[in-house]
Amino acid sequence: LKILSKTYKQSGGNPMDFGLISKKKNNPTTIKIGNISIGPEELTVIAGPCSVENNSQIDETAYFLSQLGVKVLRGGAYKPRTSPYDFQGLGEDGLKYLKEAKDKFEMYSVTEVMDTRDVEKVAFYADILQVGSRNMQNFALLKEVGKSKRPVLLKRGFASTLNEWLYAAEYIASEGNLNIILCERGIRTYESYTRNTLDIAGAVAAKLNTCLPVIVDPSHGTGRKELVEPMALASIASGCNGVMIEIHPKPDTALCDGHQSLNFAEFEKVYRRIKDMYNFSASNI
Ligand code: PEP
Ligand code: MN
Repeated sequence: LKILSKTYKQSGGNPMDFGLISKKKNNPTTIKIGNISIGPEELTVIAGPCSVENNSQIDETAYFLSQLGVKVLRGGAYKPRTSPYDFQGLGEDGLKYLKEAKDKFEMYSVTEVMDTRDVEKVAFYADILQVGSRNMQNFALLKEVGKSKRPVLLKRGFASTLNEWLYAAEYIASEGNLNIILCERGIRTYESYTRNTLDIAGAVAAKLNTCLPVIVDPSHGTGRKELVEPMALASIASGCNGVMIEIHPKPDTALCDGHQSLNFAEFEKVYRRIKDMYNFSASNI
């Protein structure tokens, strides 16, 4: 069925019937950004606060991470909060502080874009565009980031199946952007002890079915700081390509997600273990 220049199928997509991101049809994707590579050759560790709160908070965090050797800094400037009365992020000022910090310490950045109208602006300031869990099936946004030249980190919707998640990635790819990082961040189940149920099997299944790098976010995936380390290690042991972890100079004072954020000393310990696990599992493959 041809409409203008696009070819469509006559019925809805069949399960796992995606082409551009399928494992069978493509070699594993390596995303090169400056001097880092996200994919099979390198372990990717992304860390930073849930939100950019001010200049010194993100500067201090970037300094700490760069000293450790972490290359990718995260921090939200546009925050998808459940309540409109919660901190919504600093907007463009947050993007500026994040860029200043990552440039100063020679890092790369990832930050969320929530609105199609902001894609160009966010792409101007950041190295990787994050599509958040709540927007995983915002098809207009998927198409817009698909037109961007920036790599996209696509989080799994908290109520999405594997198939829906991978088709969301196919949307981005179908607009010409094949630099997609999949990020498992937990799904909603009947369990309420954890904020979400981290689906490591789903992350591995995403790796088995696509050519894309897959990382895991154990911070949102559990909502509990004491579970961040074991879930990060499990993700790396399972062959995922990396992790994204929330940290904060003073988690108790964080404007967003302090309860799941590690302080610097806690993160340093986790980071060393993640690297050991990566070296151990890589040498065992
Ligand atoms: C985030 O990483 O900042 C975030 C809001 O996560 P999620 O979209 O997975 O809830
Ligand atoms: Mn958060």
